[in-house]
Amino acid sequence: PLLLTEFLDRAVRLYGDKPAIINEDDTYTYKELNKRVNRLSHGLRALGIQKGDRVAYLAPNTLEMLEGFYGIYQLGAVMVPLNIRLTPEDYLYILNHSESKALFVDTELFHLIEPIKEKLTTVTDIIVHYAEESTDQYRSYDNWSGSFPEDAFDREELSEDDVCSLLYTSGTTGKPKGVMLTHRNNYLHALSTMHHLRVSDRDTLLHVLPMFHVNGWGSPFYYTANGATQVMLRKADPAIILDKVEKHRVSIMHMAPTVLNAVLDKYNSKKPEIEQDVRVVIAGSAPPLAFVSRVEEDLGWEFIQVYGMTESSPLSLASYIRSHHLDEPKEEHYRTKAKAGVEMIGNEVRVVNDEGEEVAWDGTEIGEVVTRSNGVMKGYWKNEEATQAAIRNGWLHTGDMGVVDHKGNIEIVDRKKDIIISGGENISSIEVEGIFYEHPEVIEAAVVAIPHEKWGETPHAIIVPRNGAELTETEMIQFARERLAHYKCPTSVSFLEELPKTASGKIQKVHLRNQFWENREKKVN
Ligand code: ATP
Ligand code: MG
Repeated sequence: PLLLTEFLDRAVRLYGDKPAIINEDDTYTYKELNKRVNRLSHGLRALGIQKGDRVAYLAPNTLEMLEGFYGIYQLGAVMVPLNIRLTPEDYLYILNHSESKALFVDTELFHLIEPIKEKLTTVTDIIVHYAEESTDQYRSYDNWSGSFPEDAFDREELSEDDVCSLLYTSGTTGKPKGVMLTHRNNYLHALSTMHHLRVSDRDTLLHVLPMFHVNGWGSPFYYTANGATQVMLRKADPAIILDKVEKHRVSIMHMAPTVLNAVLDKYNSKKPEIEQDVRVVIAGSAPPLAFVSRVEEDLGWEFIQVYGMTESSPLSLASYIRSHHLDEPKEEHYRTKAKAGVEMIGNEVRVVNDEGEEVAWDGTEIGEVVTRSNGVMKGYWKNEEATQAAIRNGWLHTGDMGVVDHKGNIEIVDRKKDIIISGGENISSIEVEGIFYEHPEVIEAAVVAIPHEKWGETPHAIIVPRNGAELTETEMIQFARERLAHYKCPTSVSFLEELPKTASGKIQKVHLRNQFWENREKKVN
């Protein structure tokens, strides 16, 4: 069967003595990692964790987080990674909803669990990473796991269709949903992703993307399988990122566009150039065109955009340049990479109209992105109704709207819920935001639909100006008018110091929009 445990086995056999994990100042080989994983599995069994039980993790990207995956999988238990920026109330909901039996928490995050621990209905043990000593409330991870043997663990019999992770969605559009992914889902997703990113044993990954976020797009799996070196990162701070890039000769990073934006800013202020070997950086969530050229020209890093969702393991599109387009001018490459891309191996992705037919490859017709693949989830945990609504005739309906250009590249126009419908015309909030990113004094922009008497809806822009910049509403509207069709231009603009975001750095437009729709609902087609 296709089981994720195979990936670590391979690394131990072929790369056993290689520096595998760099955690702050300590380096561990794959053999050492494996011993720690075995101790954890023995410990979990001693706690009474059985096949199928959920075990939750609340941790930034640390060695302990990474070993958690493999330690849990050896028992056939299910990893439930928790987003580290939620509130205690959110944790209470997810821990009880997932019926998790044990909870591992980083010491810096324990204060988020403290206020709710009496209300946890299924968690019987709390284990704290980096806690010096055990208390009456929790066990110290090192003390506890240190008492178990590090030799081979007698694994549970598993089938590839067994669930390995229960991942809660980002909650960009509402309450997070629990997505059940199987070993087969993640295994085949890992094969596809490592191929498209050309991952090899020569790579050094800096773990920028949080592993709690759909397992960092599967990065704990395919970097391990290939025997790459993995550098942990607690905080996605641009100065720390650039230091580690230089110190560990990082070759590859995955990150949210917001983090990439911050790195670009920091890097430009840090010239003369740092010594570095980064070959590629990967981002999701529709980075604006202006980013792509800055990454490739200012930083000299190859840029790949990917598209996916928790429900599809997650990635299904990648914006790489195919060989028959290599001769195109650079500007055309940037335009391609500002789109989500083409289907990755193992995924069928289509943009379909209301009749379910594929839209023409001419960039004009907007349809919903649907996908059918080995990565599509088993279903939503305890929500059969939502599962049936999402997966119809074997196709996952993503809720994202796209168009396809004449080369077959899919561009995500918007989420169904974020699209602005003004006087019957569809306006992509992403397109309008992209215009503002061309303005040198704009750091971030979000465009949302607000109610309009005549047009039904009209675009409203929320702008974060660069520190100290004096921008006005009229100036911003004028800026858009010079670059966009009139009906797409925001009719009003407001300014904020910061935009509300999810832990993975996505702008929560629903929060920005709601204040304008007090007593009514924005219509979703
Ligand atoms: P929730 O489902 O709880 O509202 P979410 O959809 O943000 O949250 P995720 O599964 O983490 O949760 O994110 C998947 C979504 O992110 C996609 O459905 C899509 O809207 C957006 N996304 C991902 N990659 C891209 C991309 N390259 N371009 C545009 N949007 C993207
Ligand atoms: Mg979603």
